[in-house]
Amino acid sequence: MTESPVVIITGASRGIGGATARLFAASAARVVVNYSRSVAAAETVAQEIQALGGEALLVQADVSQPAQVEDLFQKVMAHWGRVDVLVNNAGITKDGLLIRMKDADWHGVIHVNLDGVFYCTRAAIKIMMKQKSGRIINITSIAGVMGNPGQANYSAAKAGVIGLTRTVAKEYASRGITVNAVAPGFIATEMTEHLQSEALLKLIPLGRYGQPEEVAGLIAFLGLHPAASYITGQVFHIDGGLVMG
Ligand code: NAD
Repeated sequence: MTESPVVIITGASRGIGGATARLFAASAARVVVNYSRSVAAAETVAQEIQALGGEALLVQADVSQPAQVEDLFQKVMAHWGRVDVLVNNAGITKDGLLIRMKDADWHGVIHVNLDGVFYCTRAAIKIMMKQKSGRIINITSIAGVMGNPGQANYSAAKAGVIGLTRTVAKEYASRGITVNAVAPGFIATEMTEHLQSEALLKLIPLGRYGQPEEVAGLIAFLGLHPAASYITGQVFHIDGGLVMG
């Protein structure tokens, strides 16, 4: 890896993506802050990175749109000429029981959470193959491992991300590219605000929700640490012990 690796983080305007962007910047990476709609929040993350003495490139792209993803990677290549780490973090939920789930809610979640990972990974792999190095970290969920009532669309997308992770890891290991997945449990972000309850807390052995900064730490380890160069095709749970075994 170069002295100052270039890291693309999708959906980096807030939550886990925002915390990851700040941590990579604090670790001397050059950070691409991708966002789809929340330009003001993304600008704040970029300003925080610059305040840390880091370099940030703000790029708008909806990851579910292949042309916008191609444009994102072209802009990064034009600006910094390489991509060392891709963090596929962008995600949405549209929860509901299966029998009432609308086609649009099914497809909307699959488009962002699974198709988006495919489009970004394909674009990154082409660049990383030429570099003969690269690391990809896909944010899945324990819902993709265990299933979760009310989240058929989300669980299917996140399970798909795990299959994609393992396949891409096998296809490109010989090119010096590692691909891993991180499966958070319940992390205190805007995505989970409406889910938090005493009953849920009782299910978590460590007795609390995770913080975005904790997930960011695991992502940064997989993306930057020399010891992670021998890890590929794995799914790392970070869930306070909610899922074991
Ligand atoms: P969040 O809602 O705070 O952040 C999601 C980010 O993705 C936002 O910045 C949003 O603008 C962006 N985004 C949404 N659609 C996009 C698109 N089409 N293109 C580009 N960006 C888009 O949620 P979070 O909790 O920070 O979640 C981050 C990731 O972690 C998601 O993939 C989520 O599924 C996963 N996750 C979160 C939890 C949790 O408990 N918070 C648990 C498991 C997995």
